[in-house]
Amino acid sequence: MLLRVAVNTPLRRCFDYLAPADHRGSAPLPGTRISVPFGHRREVAILLETPARTDAPPAKLRRAHAILDATPIIPADMLSLLRWASEYYRHPIGEVLAAALPAALRHGASPAGGRTGWRLTAPGRAADPDTIAARAPLQARMLTALGRCDPTGLAGEELRGLGASVRPALRALQAKGLIEACSLPSSLPEVIRSAEPGPELTAAQREAVAAIRADFGSFMAFLLFGVTGSGKTEVYLELAREALARGLQALVLVPEIGLTPQLVRRFERRLATPLALMHSGLGDRERLESWRAARSGQARVVLGTRSAVFAPLPEAGLIVVDEEHDTSYKQQDGFKYSARDLAVLRARRERIPIVLGSATPSLETLHNVYRGRYRRLDLPERAGCANQPRIEIVDLRHHAVQEGISTPLVLRIQGHLERGGQVLLYLNRRGFAPTLFCSECGWIANCLRCDAHLTLHRSSHQLRCHHCGAARPPETACPACGCEVHPVGEGTQRIEDALARLFPAAPALRIDRDTTQRRGQIEAKLEAARRGEARILVGTQMLTKGHDFPEVSLVGILNADQGLFGTDFRSSERLAQTILQVAGRAGRAERPGEVLVQTLYPEHPLLRKLVTEGYEPFARAALEERRATSWPPFSHLALLRAEAPTRQAPLDFLERARGLAPGAANGIALLGPAPAPMERRAGRFRAQLLIQAAARASLQRLLSDWVGQVALLPEARRVRWSIDVDPVELF
Ligand code: ADP
Ligand code: ZN
Repeated sequence: MLLRVAVNTPLRRCFDYLAPADHRGSAPLPGTRISVPFGHRREVAILLETPARTDAPPAKLRRAHAILDATPIIPADMLSLLRWASEYYRHPIGEVLAAALPAALRHGASPAGGRTGWRLTAPGRAADPDTIAARAPLQARMLTALGRCDPTGLAGEELRGLGASVRPALRALQAKGLIEACSLPSSLPEVIRSAEPGPELTAAQREAVAAIRADFGSFMAFLLFGVTGSGKTEVYLELAREALARGLQALVLVPEIGLTPQLVRRFERRLATPLALMHSGLGDRERLESWRAARSGQARVVLGTRSAVFAPLPEAGLIVVDEEHDTSYKQQDGFKYSARDLAVLRARRERIPIVLGSATPSLETLHNVYRGRYRRLDLPERAGCANQPRIEIVDLRHHAVQEGISTPLVLRIQGHLERGGQVLLYLNRRGFAPTLFCSECGWIANCLRCDAHLTLHRSSHQLRCHHCGAARPPETACPACGCEVHPVGEGTQRIEDALARLFPAAPALRIDRDTTQRRGQIEAKLEAARRGEARILVGTQMLTKGHDFPEVSLVGILNADQGLFGTDFRSSERLAQTILQVAGRAGRAERPGEVLVQTLYPEHPLLRKLVTEGYEPFARAALEERRATSWPPFSHLALLRAEAPTRQAPLDFLERARGLAPGAANGIALLGPAPAPMERRAGRFRAQLLIQAAARASLQRLLSDWVGQVALLPEARRVRWSIDVDPVELF
C-alpha cells in the first residue's frame, strides 16, 4: 500500500511512502497522521491519499514508520478546504497543514484529551467518607473531594494536593470499588451556571437576528453593517445562543487586538458555556486544549483570531467575522491566507450562514453586497441612547499648531475637560519624534540598514528604527556639520509631554506599544482609562479597536494626512476606517461625542465626502475610483516579492520570473519588477512584481504553472522570495 503525504517543508510537492511493515487491514483515511522518515529526521506527516501507483523509483521509496491515528485528525471537508487554500494561495501544502494544526499535534500529541483521572463509582457515591475518616483519613479526603467534582472526576495531580502517598490510597479505594479511572474532559475555564440576560434587542437588531436565523442550516453571507456601538456584538451573542440551543457550534473570529478579556467575559457570562479560545498568546499546550475542546464538541463556541478559522467544529452552525475589514485577518508571512475569505468559503462548503460585521466594511465586501452576493443588514443607530459623534475638520494651514496640537483642538480639549469629559487623541506614531534633523545642513537621522528615518525615543534616550529594531543613542550635534540637531514632528511621547504643559491639572495616559510591553500592562492601562482616572488618553491603533471608553466625549485625530497620500491604493480606505473607528470611541454612553480631524488637505474629495456624508457615500466614491483605475475589487492581484543583500539580485530574479510568464493575454498585466516602496529593510534590498488580472480565474490559471517554474529558477536560490495572492499591502 502506498501513502501520499504532506510534510511540513517549503518544498512544493507531496511525498510517497510504503505503508508500515506491520500495517494490516484497510487503508487509513486522508487527514490521518503518519510518522515518516524524512532525510535523517522523523516527521509527522499528514496523509493526503493512498494512490494506486507512484512515480518514485522503487529504490527510493521508503517505508513509513507508523500510522498514528485510528481516525483522521483533519476531517475530510477541512482537508479539502486546506488543499484548496494551498492551491489558491500557491503555498506548499505541508506548510498549509502545519499552519492549521496546533504544533503539539505535529509533535505526536494525542488529538483526544489525553488526561486521565479518577471519579466515584455508584458505591463510592453512596459511601460516607466519615465512616473511614478515622482509619484512613487520606482516603476520606479523597472521597469528599471526588464527591464535590462528581461526575466529572479529578486528575491525579489535583488529588496529589490532598496528602502524601496518594498512590496507595487511590489503589485502596479502587480495590474497594469506590472509585474508578476515567478520562477527563480537556481543561476548560470554569463555566458560569446561568446565563446573564442581555438587553432587550432593538427593532433593527431583532430584524438582523431573524434574517440570519432564517438561514440556519444553509449558506448565506451577511454583512452586518452597523456603526460602532450599534449593538453588533449583541446580535452575535443572540445568534450564538440560538446556535447552542439547536445543538450547533459557533465560530467567532475577531481581530488580534480585539480579543480582550472583557469580550471573553461578555461571551462567557451571556452564553454560560465553555468557550475555546484561540489566539497567538496561547502556549502550545493551551492551543492543543482549545483544539481538543472544539473537536470533541465540548466547547460550543470557539472565539479566536485569524488561525481559528481552521478550528475543528464537528457541529458547525454559524461563523461570525467581527470587524471584517481588519487587515489582521490576512496572514502577512508564510502561508498568506485571508481568514475572512476562507471563513466565507468554509461557510459555503459547510452550508452554514456567515456574518461579516463592521462599521466600516472593506470595499471588497461592500462590492459583494452591491452585486447581490452578500446580504446586507443595517444597524443604523447606536444602541442605548448614545448619539453618533459629529466629525469636523481642522485646517492646519490656517491655525497655529503647538507640538502637533492646533489651537482649535486645544480650546476644544479645554472645554471638554471643564465639562468633565474625557479626551482621546490618536496619533499613528509612537516615540517622541519621527526623527532628528539638522536645520543647518539638512542632515536626518537615518537607519543604516533601512530606507527609513530613526524615531527618537526620549524616555529610553534612543534613536530606534521601527522597521528593523536597530537602536543607538541620539546624536547631540549634527555628525555632518556639528550644528545643533532638533527633533522634528510628533510621536505619542511628545504629545504626552505637550499635554502635561498645556493641561497640567488633567492626568494623561499614553497607550502604545512602548507603554504596554509587559504582560498585563495593556489591560491595566485600558482599565484605568475606562475608570476615568486619566482625563486625556493618547495612543496609537491600540486605543482604537473594540475598547469602550464611556466617558470619552472628544476625539482628536492628529495626523490624518499620512493616509491620504499613502503609497497603496488602499490608503484612503484605511484612513476612512481609522477615522471612523477612532471616532467611534467618542460618546459611547450618554455624552454626545465630537471628533476633530487635523489635516493639511481639508479639500481632499474623499476626506470631505467621509466627513460630510459618512462612510457609505465615501465607499461608493472610492469604489468608483477603483473601477476607473482597475484596482481591486475590479481586478485581482498577486505580488511576487523578492529580497536579497544586494540590490540587483531581486530585480534579476523578478525579471527572469516575468520572462517566464505567458504574454499579456487574458487581461493580465505584469507591473514591474520595481524596487519596493521601502527598498532597503534590515539590510536587505526588496523588489516586487505585481500581477494584475481582470478575472480571478485567469490570474489563477497563470499562477498555477508559473509559480512552480519560478521556484525552479537558478536566480530563485539567490533571493528570498514569496508569492502573495490577494495582497493587502503592496510593499
Ligand atoms: P458593537 O459591537 O456594534 O460595537 P455592542 O454590541 O458592543 O456594539 O453594543 C454597544 C453597547 O450598547 C454595549 O454596551 C451594549 O451592551 C449596548 N447595547 C447593545 N444593544 C443594546 C440594546 N438593544 N439595548 C440596550 N443596550 C444595548
Ligand atoms: Zn532599520
